[in-house]
Amino acid sequence: MVKSMTEAPPVPPSTLPTTALRVVLVSPKEPGNIGSSARAMLNMGVSDLRIVAPRCDVLAPEALYMSVHARALVENAQICSTLEQATQDCDFVVGTSAREYSDLIPARYPGELRTQIWAARNVAVVFGREESGLTTEELARCQARVRIPTAEYSSLNLAQAVLIVLYEFIQSQRTTPTPLPRKENLAPREQLEGSYAQLKSLILEIGYTDPRRVDHMMRLYRKIFDRAQLEADEVRMFRGLWAQMSWIAKGNKPNLGGDKG
Ligand code: SAH
Repeated sequence: MVKSMTEAPPVPPSTLPTTALRVVLVSPKEPGNIGSSARAMLNMGVSDLRIVAPRCDVLAPEALYMSVHARALVENAQICSTLEQATQDCDFVVGTSAREYSDLIPARYPGELRTQIWAARNVAVVFGREESGLTTEELARCQARVRIPTAEYSSLNLAQAVLIVLYEFIQSQRTTPTPLPRKENLAPREQLEGSYAQLKSLILEIGYTDPRRVDHMMRLYRKIFDRAQLEADEVRMFRGLWAQMSWIAKGNKPNLGGDKG
């Protein structure tokens, strides 16, 4: 850690969340934005930074310079090759975007997500590329999406967006009078992604739609399941049902006493 004689150290995170927040930057291009994002995180008491496929040297001098006291966050950032890898241990994944997308969950104001955020244990907040944001595919992998309301020019600088979203989440927690009880067993992302892959192959297997349309259909199903914040047991229930449907589709007879897994 870099120490300064003149500046007070950051406020200790005494009032900050017990829910762990992770910031995921997808393919950032400017080292300065990585440093400034880390600084914004430290201001808000968030320390877990994950960077997916960076397009620059994460430890470039500009990144360390802009991070100021948050140098350790940059140095300890986890570099991942995919968004899936960066979020696999998270049970609630929030995407951010400056724009609206018609076939995705409508964007919410950051503060509106308070109950869902604090009901989860490991929350990933995902930010996109400086020029093009997150792709539709990437946003479809998020269970919720937030947009910072702005004037007509909606695209904020990446690190400023990080600061505002985290600020809103943290303020929300402080001002929520009765937070919902934490859900102890929300399904981790990895399990949900496995279930979506299973549903997709079932849909194709039974000819419910064709390969050309299946990805669009899967986005609509994701919308439903992601809104529900399913618990691990609930995901297993669906997976059991889908496994049974696939078993029957292969011409097998129901075996009510048996368990096909
Ligand atoms: N032209 C891009 C903007 C990219 S800005 C687009 O239209 O999506 C880089 C990132 O900052 C975005 O991917 C998003 O994560 C965040 N961001 C910028 N403006 C935002 C806003 N108004 N609300 C929420 N996130 C925003």
